[in-house]
Amino acid sequence: MILSDQHMHTNFSGDSKAVMSEMIDSAIDKGLKTICFTDHNDPLFPCYREGESGTFDLDTYNYNQKAIEIRNDLELQSRINVRIGMELGIYPKIYDLCKKITKEYPYDFIILSSHTAGEVDPYFKSYWENIDPVDGIRMYYEEILKNVQNFNDFDVYGHLDYCVRYTDTLPSQRSISNYKEIFREIFRILKENNKGIEINSGGLRRGNLKEFNPDPEIIRFYKECGGEIITFGSDAHNVKDIACGIKEAGEILKDIGFDYVAEFKERKASFVKI
Ligand SMILES: [Zn+2]
Ligand SMILES: [Zn+2]
Repeated sequence: MILSDQHMHTNFSGDSKAVMSEMIDSAIDKGLKTICFTDHNDPLFPCYREGESGTFDLDTYNYNQKAIEIRNDLELQSRINVRIGMELGIYPKIYDLCKKITKEYPYDFIILSSHTAGEVDPYFKSYWENIDPVDGIRMYYEEILKNVQNFNDFDVYGHLDYCVRYTDTLPSQRSISNYKEIFREIFRILKENNKGIEINSGGLRRGNLKEFNPDPEIIRFYKECGGEIITFGSDAHNVKDIACGIKEAGEILKDIGFDYVAEFKERKASFVKI
């Protein structure tokens, strides 16, 4: 059984109203042993929805003030391990900026996420216009490859197949067999740099597919390529969604051959039996 949730958002993220203390109470109620807040930081996000400019910029100063408070609250930490991380949204133009951001404060954990490819969010219909779905998906994975070739100050890559959440693609178009060589290289680089991936249950609640991200077939290939570091993340934006799908995720990982999930403190992984 997995008892750690390493991906969740609070009202430090522009798309969440959740209060940190309420998220912690809910995690304790659900029997979790460790959680990590990973609020959004998508600096210079290139494609906001109308009226949302700046929504995904993190107030890093106040976020880290809160982190100090939480780390120093020993009574709280005796009930549940609470870590403070960040979900850093990356794309090629901002590698240098991202390098500065990760060093600015002492985070426990950095999830690197692609929320765009070619500076367009695949959430938008415009991403999929005038492009074959297989090419649209490939463009997204090729950008992930570029990111891991050029940036390595992170711990796990978030929701690797996020691009397929919001569009109508066929299983044959999404199938990893179309993209295997890209993933082989991504996973080789992740392993070489001691980085991992996550199993993210956000897609069970959002988007069209109602599946984990990435698809378990991608996780299976990650394992085949020698991948060992994997975290579980609910991607909760409210108290109700914490630990969503955690039992099922444990079963999927066990079936694939993982005996441990990773959790992070001060950017170092420890491995906990599933
Ligand atoms: Zn994300
Ligand atoms: Zn997230």
